[in-house]
Amino acid sequence: MPKQRKDCLFCSIAREGAYVHKAKGFVAINDINPKAPVHVLVIPEHHVDTFRDVGDFDARESKRMLEFVAETAEKVGLTDYRVLINVGASAGQTVFHLHWHILGGGPGSGADVPSTVATAEAEL
Ligand code: AMP
Ligand code: ZN
Repeated sequence: MPKQRKDCLFCSIAREGAYVHKAKGFVAINDINPKAPVHVLVIPEHHVDTFRDVGDFDARESKRMLEFVAETAEKVGLTDYRVLINVGASAGQTVFHLHWHILGGGPGSGADVPSTVATAEAEL
């Protein structure tokens, strides 16, 4: 059983959310407040607060997580897209359970995807 937090929104979603894609250890959901025509979040079931703690994942899990990001993009119909992680509050992170943003869906390419995901990003 992966490490979970009782009071964590994304731990709950990983257990019982409405997924666009799911595999052992990972789920992908639509972002509730999309910043692009397609905006999906990849959430590992294993709770770590931020990408800073990615070393808590073993090598197999880390590889699988990257593959799952690519698989999810393909599954939601994207060939061109952006993958982004906000790390820490001043970088725009609002949910402290590691998650990957996949943004895309502009006509033909990723060209229409906005350059910011969170307003705080502009302050970096
Ligand atoms: P971040 O700001 O990088 O931590 O990203 C958190 C993301 O989670 C934001 O884009 C929110 O719109 C999204 N979000 C928050 N609550 C939910 C939810 N219940 N279901 C789907 N997405 C959510
Ligand atoms: Zn969590």
